[in-house]
Amino acid sequence: METTLPTVLLKPGEADRIVAGHPWIYSGSILRITQPPEDGELVQVKDHRQRLLGTGLFNSKSKIHVRMLSPDRVELDAAFFEERIRSALDVRRRHQPGATSFRVVNSESDLLSGLIVDKYGDVLVLQTSSLGMDRRKGLIVQVLQKILSPRSILERSDTASRKFEGLETSNGVLAGEPVESVEANLNGLKFRVDLQEGHKTGMYLDQQVNHRLVGELAKGRTVLDCFTFLGGFAIHAAKAGAKQVLGLDQSESAIAAAKNHASVNGVESTTTFEQANVFDWLKSHTTTGPNDRLVHSFDLIVLDPPSFTRNRASVPDALRGYKEIHLRALKLLRPGGILATFCCSHHVDAKLFEDVALSAAFDQRRLLRRIATYSQSPDHPVLPSIPETEYLKGAAYEVVR
Ligand code: SAH
Repeated sequence: METTLPTVLLKPGEADRIVAGHPWIYSGSILRITQPPEDGELVQVKDHRQRLLGTGLFNSKSKIHVRMLSPDRVELDAAFFEERIRSALDVRRRHQPGATSFRVVNSESDLLSGLIVDKYGDVLVLQTSSLGMDRRKGLIVQVLQKILSPRSILERSDTASRKFEGLETSNGVLAGEPVESVEANLNGLKFRVDLQEGHKTGMYLDQQVNHRLVGELAKGRTVLDCFTFLGGFAIHAAKAGAKQVLGLDQSESAIAAAKNHASVNGVESTTTFEQANVFDWLKSHTTTGPNDRLVHSFDLIVLDPPSFTRNRASVPDALRGYKEIHLRALKLLRPGGILATFCCSHHVDAKLFEDVALSAAFDQRRLLRRIATYSQSPDHPVLPSIPETEYLKGAAYEVVR
């Protein structure tokens, strides 16, 4: 096999990033290719002095010409995928013991660039975002069946990035019976996940740990959960003993689902959901007439908006959006209240995000004490050598005055 693999040689200076563990090779890093590989095929990669850097999957249509899979010469057979998926599962068992719904494989951060597998109870949802992985779907499905014996394996390959790989959207059933929705248990609470229409592959598993941690801050408090989606933070807060919880989302179907979750988890009496645009709602609840005084009416506010930016160019606009909701949330917080705030954009790092919170606090003449910092749950591992693997960050601030 070794002699037949096409070889991609890198330009001088381009090898270090790969040696450090970053799996992407852009066309601009390539010196030459010995024999033209077919798109989706395995190639070996060497530095300009012909030293082996490893093997990866090739795609001339993508800006990422090679996605590295191993520093060694490997064969992409069932044994390879089984080893990778089992070691990904071990990470989850170590760091999220007891979880029954979680991300099984998170692409680059599990050394399987282009492959995502989510587990919602006994149903798996697979998503590929590279041609190489897409071609190997059948093999991956067999391995998943062997390791996890799921009731069904569905496909939700509908990310916009697939077009950069020359791939169309592909949704459907890969194994087992069709399933429209499934009940997932998160931290002992029940959530119904819409596997056809829900965000990502159905829901935000990356917040699972934070749902619990923020919920624990909610005991006895009046809570506002902005951008609640299925009610994740709201239901956890209510279950943890919040006095009263209000969740807001602009999506009608999300609000209907969140209401259902309040009822199946037995927190209807303290929990309310309202369909609203958060920007408008916060504005109308913080705008006072000339002789009115604003009533600070919440003592825990959660801000978990969608990513306001998909690229670096739109970061300034995104920051204005984040600032706006922080300002208004601070107006509504009682002294001693807590603001738990999240940012899921890779392009806004924790420091920049904290600057937004501080700038809003300055404008409101409020002083904040940071009492917690948050990241994505451990089933979305962060590999610092691959900066793109880190995207979710958050913090909880207590209002000192
Ligand atoms: N907090 C959720 C995830 C939020 S995802 C969780 O923990 O699971 C972002 C949500 O914001 C989506 O449900 C989307 O419908 C909603 N959304 C986006 N823009 C909005 C806006 N301007 N006002 C209200 N909701 C909005």
